[in-house]
Amino acid sequence: MKVLVPVKRVVDSNVKIRVAADGSGVDLANVKMSMNPFDEIALEEAIRLKEAQLAEEVLVVSIGAERSQETLRTALAMGADRALLIDTTDDVHADIEPLAVAKLLKAVIDDEQPQLVLAGKQAIDNDMNATGQMLAALLGWPQATFASALTLEDGTARVTREVDGGLQTIEVKLPAVVTVDLRLNEPRYASLPNLMKAKKKPVETKSAGELGVDVEPRLEILKTSEPQTRQTGEVVPDVDALFAKLQERKIV
Ligand code: AMP
Repeated sequence: MKVLVPVKRVVDSNVKIRVAADGSGVDLANVKMSMNPFDEIALEEAIRLKEAQLAEEVLVVSIGAERSQETLRTALAMGADRALLIDTTDDVHADIEPLAVAKLLKAVIDDEQPQLVLAGKQAIDNDMNATGQMLAALLGWPQATFASALTLEDGTARVTREVDGGLQTIEVKLPAVVTVDLRLNEPRYASLPNLMKAKKKPVETKSAGELGVDVEPRLEILKTSEPQTRQTGEVVPDVDALFAKLQERKIV
């Protein structure tokens, strides 16, 4: 069985985001970029399936500017077998919207015929939480989102999902799309020797045009702004004073 893992290059989760002065988006100048953390978890799970001999091949796919090759090389160093870059733009600031990503992934899937897609539940840069769901709909495959546990048996995936107020376990028939949540596993680090070796491994490249997909944005970003700064708090001497304050502000 082949497992396909889409991996997105995003601003590293430890970086403090700066909004571009003109409000057009996030300032990416000299900013550390990394693999989307949920995609690391998806990839770790795919590698574990391979180690357990439940999968034969792990194919990673990244969509974006040529720089996304770095993310693919990290994926190869972690243990992916093959890497495919879908080169969609020269502009590292351009974000490809979920529907276009899903259409591109569908074109790759039609070609590669994986039995399982393991994607992140969301990309931490735009928080769309949409690509996996759209991809499942385009393919007509079952989907299991927000996975915190996954087992495969007899052509079926049993997935425990993190839902509001608890956990839900469902079964979906393969081929299927599973999107992963934070508690599924702890991803391994790509070791330095493996990163060095991955530099020499081939990364296949295709363009959106070759796959016949239009990636023109359908959404227009009107404005990007910093979150409001929190007002400083006030220390009150006792519960009575707290209650009086809350009454004053008509909270109780
Ligand atoms: P989103 O719907 O944008 O929040 O992304 C959900 C998941 O779709 C991510 O965690 C990735 O697995 C995949 N994905 C989204 N955008 C890309 C991209 N440009 N390249 C590769 N994978 C992507």
